[in-house]
Amino acid sequence: MTRPFSPERWAFEITHVLNAAFGADRFPIDIPMVAREYTAQRFPDDPIISVQGDNLPGFDGALFKAPAGRKGWGIIYNSRLSSKGRINFTLAHEFGHFLLHRLAYPNGFRCGEQDVVRWDSEYGQVEHQANVFAANFLMPLDDFRRQIAPNAEVDLDMISHCADRYRVSLIAATLRWLSYTGKRAVLVVSRDGFILWARSSTPALKSGAFFRTSAGPIEIPEASLPLNPGLLVDGRASIEHAAGAWFREPVREMTVFAEQYDFAISLLLLDDAAPFDWTDEEAEPDTYDRFVPVARRREW
Ligand SMILES: [Zn+2]
Repeated sequence: MTRPFSPERWAFEITHVLNAAFGADRFPIDIPMVAREYTAQRFPDDPIISVQGDNLPGFDGALFKAPAGRKGWGIIYNSRLSSKGRINFTLAHEFGHFLLHRLAYPNGFRCGEQDVVRWDSEYGQVEHQANVFAANFLMPLDDFRRQIAPNAEVDLDMISHCADRYRVSLIAATLRWLSYTGKRAVLVVSRDGFILWARSSTPALKSGAFFRTSAGPIEIPEASLPLNPGLLVDGRASIEHAAGAWFREPVREMTVFAEQYDFAISLLLLDDAAPFDWTDEEAEPDTYDRFVPVARRREW
């Protein structure tokens, strides 16, 4: 028996088919059409036969087996979702469950907002795999890199442009960009003055610029834009912070309020080179703690 495909491999296979059929400039993806037609060809005995919105209280999406007497599977998204980007990511996520997990989970899936919106590696493995598939399928890396080169300076408008191109949420597009950029950047999602979760690009992570929310609540700085809504215009703004606000080095912060979720999305951009050697600091993790009250302590 051959080894099952990884989430990335499934996305690559389908990307290849779509590139051959429609060319490289084919976005956004018509997910219901692709899910039905691809599975009808590849799994004629077990295809996806319907993709539709329905009443799905408490969940964003579901993958379910067709009723007795019919072959195949159905994908449902919560028809009360108003964000097209969120619906698309949900559909791709359920398509991922179909490709990756339907044999091991013959009763299908019901997935909540946490499963779909929040996709970090610490979260459930099966949900994480479905999200990795969705991100790779909706936003192929070669195309994304053509929109924003790995070492390009970015602003949130450029990432918004990609979110529109792939018709995904700003968070999904930002996470995809963070996965390959050579820049030091950190995405912070906050509500009521506290970080809900955060994600760093690899260069930022390696230089010690990250927030570890699993260790407890982390306050955002008083000077940050989410705590100064008067500085926002049309729900967004950018600001230059001196060292000591977000990190012990200057930061350019760009923030957008996502009304439908009632949280703030902040992109923190740092200079390419860390201003000093962070690795020495890690040898003395308690040095910083002595100067900062516990509630404001951050992981670097
Ligand atoms: Zn799921």
